[in-house]
Amino acid sequence: MEQNLRIPGPTPIPPEVAAALARPMINHRGPEFAAIIGRVTEGLQHFFQTSQPVLGFPSAGSGAMEAAVVNVFSPGDEVLAVTIGVFGNRLAKIAEAFGLKVTRHEVAWGQAADPAQVVAALDALPNAKGVLLTHNETSTGVTNDLQALAQAIRARRPDILLVVDAVSSLSCVDLRMDEWDLDVVFTGAQKGWMVPPGLAMIGVSARGWAATEKATLPRFYWDFRTARKSLEKGQTPYTPPVSLYFGLDVALGMMRAEGREAIIARHQRVADLTRSRARAMGLELFAEPAHASNTVTALKVPAGVESKALTKALREQEGVVIAGGQERLEGQIIRIGHLGYVHEPDIAACMDALERQLGALGYRAPAASGAEA
Ligand SMILES: *Cc1c(COP(=O)(O)O)cnc(C)c1O
Repeated sequence: MEQNLRIPGPTPIPPEVAAALARPMINHRGPEFAAIIGRVTEGLQHFFQTSQPVLGFPSAGSGAMEAAVVNVFSPGDEVLAVTIGVFGNRLAKIAEAFGLKVTRHEVAWGQAADPAQVVAALDALPNAKGVLLTHNETSTGVTNDLQALAQAIRARRPDILLVVDAVSSLSCVDLRMDEWDLDVVFTGAQKGWMVPPGLAMIGVSARGWAATEKATLPRFYWDFRTARKSLEKGQTPYTPPVSLYFGLDVALGMMRAEGREAIIARHQRVADLTRSRARAMGLELFAEPAHASNTVTALKVPAGVESKALTKALREQEGVVIAGGQERLEGQIIRIGHLGYVHEPDIAACMDALERQLGALGYRAPAASGAEA
């Protein structure tokens, strides 16, 4: 049975991308690769909405988190980490691991960060060099209003560095790197980009490049300057994941054909469908509805249902694979990924299966849930 893979990464890949991944190897220092990385960079700039070069590093998204920290900061630098869940905490921990002075602004899980409160937290840190932000918190299914946050922070601190984890939002949700004046923005191939895991992509602003020159944290493999120099020659400093570049080149071609705005609208539609089907079953969103994510939906596990039994039944009986909760949300929520190569029928099938298996586990939707609507 073909799986309906509905976790927030790795995500399904289109057959065209799968075929590209099977191509024979080429010289990564030759003209064919230069042409591919040139097209890929242009495509990434379009989706990052930036005129800056977008760097690629062979790594998980977490590698990009580390790269962001080591390239623009120095030991002892003060930063404000705005954390609304597991991934915000990870970025804060990475910054701490490299000797930064991290102050956490923690928001209750399931909620988005409030711009006024973030600015108030920043006012207590007059020497802060940067703010670490998560665009879409995959662990809670919450999307921060990044534009409002960036605007509020910028109005108060015009030169502060804005580091943005956009791993599970970029290409699916609107993110305007240049217009919103963001400094380091990173994402990962296996989330919204319709390619397998193994490639992180990072955009750096002019302010970010200036910081990169002054920063004194040790770095070698992750050095943005080395990567940019190589990119100017149509290369990467070290051997790139050539097959992933084949795949990303094809994926970006498909994405350009569909159109950035159309992709954003499709993610809105599949998310709306997920949420309306969940509501009709009497299930409750974990996220505050006003900030519910368009790439991943977190639902509270109803009383009387054991989440492990539910995900097992979905996987074994239905071929539908969803995610559970992370850390203290384990057993409390289930998460349905709807990003990248996803269309309404994938979600309809997932929610049909969820309804059947909840029923098989004895769950009955509350009468007032509007199940008939
Ligand atoms: C998946 C994810 C990461 C980490 O990516 P890995 O590839 O698993 O290291 C970081 N931040 C967010 C928001 C994510 O969704």
